[in-house]
Amino acid sequence: MTPLGERIAALIAAQGPISVAQYMTLVLHDPEAGYYVTHDPFGGKGDFITAPEISQMFGEMLGAWCAQVWSDRGKPKNMHLVELGPGRGTLMADALRAVKRVPGFLNDIEIVLVESSPLLRESQREKLKNSGARIRWTSRFDVRDAPLLVIANEFFDALPIRQYVKTARGWCERMVVLKDGKLDLALAPLPAPFALIPSSRAGAPEGGFYEVSPAATALCEEIARGIASHGGAALILDYGYTGIGFGETLQAVGAHRFVRPLDEPGHYDLSAHVDFVALADAARHGGAQISGPVPQGQFLEQLGIGARAKALTKANPAQADQMASALQRLTAPEQMGKLFQAMALLPPSAPRPPGF
Ligand code: SAH
Repeated sequence: MTPLGERIAALIAAQGPISVAQYMTLVLHDPEAGYYVTHDPFGGKGDFITAPEISQMFGEMLGAWCAQVWSDRGKPKNMHLVELGPGRGTLMADALRAVKRVPGFLNDIEIVLVESSPLLRESQREKLKNSGARIRWTSRFDVRDAPLLVIANEFFDALPIRQYVKTARGWCERMVVLKDGKLDLALAPLPAPFALIPSSRAGAPEGGFYEVSPAATALCEEIARGIASHGGAALILDYGYTGIGFGETLQAVGAHRFVRPLDEPGHYDLSAHVDFVALADAARHGGAQISGPVPQGQFLEQLGIGARAKALTKANPAQADQMASALQRLTAPEQMGKLFQAMALLPPSAPRPPGF
């Protein structure tokens, strides 16, 4: 076991089993040995690759989306452009470059990067040092008195989930326990209170899962409140589901391969598929209206990624194959085009944003 694994085992020995959510939080964010504190997860040599790291076109499309929404809202002044979990800063760098020539957009906008990892903050600082933008870092999303544009790509999947499993005695929470001195997963002996499980899960078969991310829904509601009171929009892109399912989606990834979530805590990324229905409900509760979710492929195509790929290929014919393959990866249904979804949060009476 890793030193972090030993500490988690000692915690469980002292206080009893912990929820999957608490385990994810410790593994991802422990201040000494958490995955995001000690790793740069991205790239070919890293653990996984994300859309902005595949191609500059992704960030460019999102930059254009932001500029269009800003313009459709009457070009408000003092807007905050917030990115949740900016990774290496690639998306923001590409987005800012793409909107440089949109008159007025960047003049008095403030960029806010919500990032918990000191390591990734450094990468972001480096990547954005010549962007000319005013940038503030924070480790928690906070609403100030300003219109908001919020972007979150592959952020919500990193937020901790709790898992419940349907059994003959009711829905029991899946816990991380100690078995023969090792970390293991087991169901809580007593069922969870009835009120914790939504009625939409009533038809679950025995062994079916219900996953919920209280951190994700609380944050989504907070963003919705900000947008409803101050105007703007949010765009969430992630892998996830748009209906009711009974499977489990907790996953651990290292070096581009799936591993077991309890293996070597702190060495692998942990995440879960995003429940877009739950996020949409939370956002509506916060006073926002929803566009989508729509498949990422469709969203990017509507924003004109095809034309952008053609233009880039024309400017650089030697990279034609690379460009075609990046476009395919981002949009094809069997690649990222369908598993990934795009959803927007808007003030109640706002018109539909581009891409939806
Ligand atoms: N958006 C980037 C990175 C996705 S990985 C991309 O598409 O490439 C998830 C990002 O969220 C990382 O930057 C990670 O450090 C950050 N993160 C994860 N949990 C967080 C939390 N609770 N608070 C703030 N940032 C978090």
